[in-house]
Amino acid sequence: MKVDVGRRYRLYPSQGQAERLISWGHTCRWLYNTALEQRQFAWQQRKITLGVTAQCAFLTEARKDFDWVADLPAQSGQQVLRQLDQAYRNWWDPRHPAGPPTRKRKSARLSVPFPGQAIAVRRVNRRWGVVNLPKIGDVKFRWSRPLGGVVRNAVVSFDGVAWHVGFGVHAGVKTPEVHARPGMVVGVDRGVKVAVAMSDGRMWNRTFVSPGQERELARLKSKAGRQETARRKRGATTSNRARKIRAEIARTEAKARNRRRDFVMWAANRLCGQHATIKLERLGVKAMTATARGTIAEPGISVAAKAGLNRAVLDKGWGLFEAALANRARTTGTRIVKVPAAFTSQRCSRCGNTDRNNRESQAMFRCGSCGYQANADVNAAINVRDAAEAPSPLTGRAVRDRSRKASCRPPTQRRQRTALETGISRR
Ligand SMILES: [Zn+2]
Repeated sequence: MKVDVGRRYRLYPSQGQAERLISWGHTCRWLYNTALEQRQFAWQQRKITLGVTAQCAFLTEARKDFDWVADLPAQSGQQVLRQLDQAYRNWWDPRHPAGPPTRKRKSARLSVPFPGQAIAVRRVNRRWGVVNLPKIGDVKFRWSRPLGGVVRNAVVSFDGVAWHVGFGVHAGVKTPEVHARPGMVVGVDRGVKVAVAMSDGRMWNRTFVSPGQERELARLKSKAGRQETARRKRGATTSNRARKIRAEIARTEAKARNRRRDFVMWAANRLCGQHATIKLERLGVKAMTATARGTIAEPGISVAAKAGLNRAVLDKGWGLFEAALANRARTTGTRIVKVPAAFTSQRCSRCGNTDRNNRESQAMFRCGSCGYQANADVNAAINVRDAAEAPSPLTGRAVRDRSRKASCRPPTQRRQRTALETGISRR
């Protein structure tokens, strides 16, 4: 039984439970980073690959030596090591886009994983459910939607605003062979100005960070920077005041992240429900050109900074958007197709004339040849809809990913290494 859907609920731990979960979260991050260093060291120095089993033995040793490691439930520690192992396997898989595993930063979201056999979930009434966690017992969560299957694992997390519990659920999702509305094709353009524009003329946008929040965030960040410089000079530990500022930054950023996630899921749900085929430009190239153009067209420091921020906010949203589309498509049977992004914003969707002057401004498109006028993003979306498909959606992705991975390690060396590693882990 494999996990095929994720279900996330708002968790309400008591003060004592929250403190313990925070401490476990830090332990999990420490464990992940330490285990990563250990694997890197073992490979660099002795050309051996440590697997989960070997590292679990080290964990058992560490639990004897340190009380704070022993406080983390053993199964959670083992789950962290399994996650690291999965990160390595994703890196080695040529079809997977992941790069080499990286350290978890201190500012990252706190999370504690639990395997299914360590937890129990039950519903107490219409509104509330309870998850039983090792060592801290029952923690209540808001039963906001049905589980829809068998719980296989859980992750408790804190994002700076609220606690959540995410369940990996086996729901037996079956992808329909045919979409409920066959033949419906839509082109989607993801932009800096408008988040999502569609070939049928619709545009969806949402502000993730208001101008007031933006100023507030800038103020908090510069304050945190000053505090950090002062702390380094004195060689002191982080003050409680600095901690408060950091928590405030994390809270504000988490709110923006939640708005973005909400928008992305909403958009993905609508698009997949309405269309049998969704065409997207391949990510990357376009984002960069669009920003460069905008900066030259409207020079000025604040414009560039704003564009930079917008991009930073949207950039992350785009990857998430693709993931949300792929996920939603599993239940609707929608086909997601990626097409080359070159010139989609400069080509006239009516006569095909391609000229950079066709784009009058960020928002307006006017063809110099036939005089066709449209919103620039909608024109681009029509071009995306009409673009020829790559031979298979997977081919394009695999080729791109392989080239990206080749840059971190030469392919020949990589093959040898994988063979060696499998040999060792089998022994
Ligand atoms: Zn034209």
